[in-house]
Amino acid sequence: MNSVEKILVVEELEPVNETALKAMAQENGLTLPIRGKGVGELSRLYEYDPGMVRGAIAEYFGIEYAVPEPVDMSGTPELPGRPPNLCAGCPHRATYFAVKQVYGTEAICANDIGCYTLGVLPPLSMADFVICMGASVSSGCGFSRATNQKVVSFIGDSTFFHSGITGLVNAVHNNHKFTLVILDNGTTAMTGHQPHPGVDTDPMRVDLTRISIEDLVRGLGVKDVHVVRPYKLKKTMEAVRATMEYDGISVIISQELCPLFAKATGQFRKSKPFYVNPDKCRDHRDCINLLACPAMYLEDEKVKIDRNLCIGCSVCAQVCPENAILPRKE
Ligand code: SF4
Ligand code: SF4
Repeated sequence: MNSVEKILVVEELEPVNETALKAMAQENGLTLPIRGKGVGELSRLYEYDPGMVRGAIAEYFGIEYAVPEPVDMSGTPELPGRPPNLCAGCPHRATYFAVKQVYGTEAICANDIGCYTLGVLPPLSMADFVICMGASVSSGCGFSRATNQKVVSFIGDSTFFHSGITGLVNAVHNNHKFTLVILDNGTTAMTGHQPHPGVDTDPMRVDLTRISIEDLVRGLGVKDVHVVRPYKLKKTMEAVRATMEYDGISVIISQELCPLFAKATGQFRKSKPFYVNPDKCRDHRDCINLLACPAMYLEDEKVKIDRNLCIGCSVCAQVCPENAILPRKE
């Protein structure tokens, strides 16, 4: 800092480096100007873009700079929207589908923080609100007490360990009535497959004690507990149906490894990809319109399956009323 006249600190969000540099300068008796937030458009908010940084540098150092004219995009063709989506073969899609088939659109759906939050989007549309980690359980309790509607709360396995358990303790203690679906994909998928207390760490050759979600839930006093494999749609729907009739707290633990995690840890059970038999397909598109698996697409107005994306989970085959979706033979 001795060798410069002034300093501009360019950092997003909080002025951590700016504050530290100012403190360091003060301790060393330096009086050079040090600025960051408040110069040009540099603020605590949002990501910085090159234009903002150029403008701030020009303003602070007195450099002549003309903001370039915006690029003329008028001739650019409109790009198709690409909303985020659960991966091809994601077990959460199957769980959401099963719950939606049984509860319809009447239930209040509380959702939580994880990749499964993508269930908020159509055609699944299984989130009326998302508040913060663990809140699907506690807010689900509140809604079940305040309304006469059925309430279904969704939470991932790692979020359940993080902050869902306390809400369930409260629900048992207060005799609440709602259904909690724990989407157990065996990892912390959204942030990069970190372990949590329910993960089997043996495949990663790490010796940690695994806590069973089922034992934990039963230990908290929940009587109506169902463990399902979501790729088996019929059985999953039977379990969901049983929760509709239960007068109390039901917990469904929907267990299937995240396919990406399974592949990364050598646990993936390879299955043949599926295809649509054009002779059987009646083109009513239940498969695409109800599931929206990204391995499916339309070509010449016909449903096709991208064999490179399809992991062979078979869920679309169970949804097709014409049995037109079949595993490839080769
Ligand atoms: S649900 Fe079956 S029959 Fe209908 S469009 Fe899809 S593949 Fe074809
Ligand atoms: S079997 Fe069907 S639902 Fe499963 S990944 Fe393939 S296309 Fe998607």
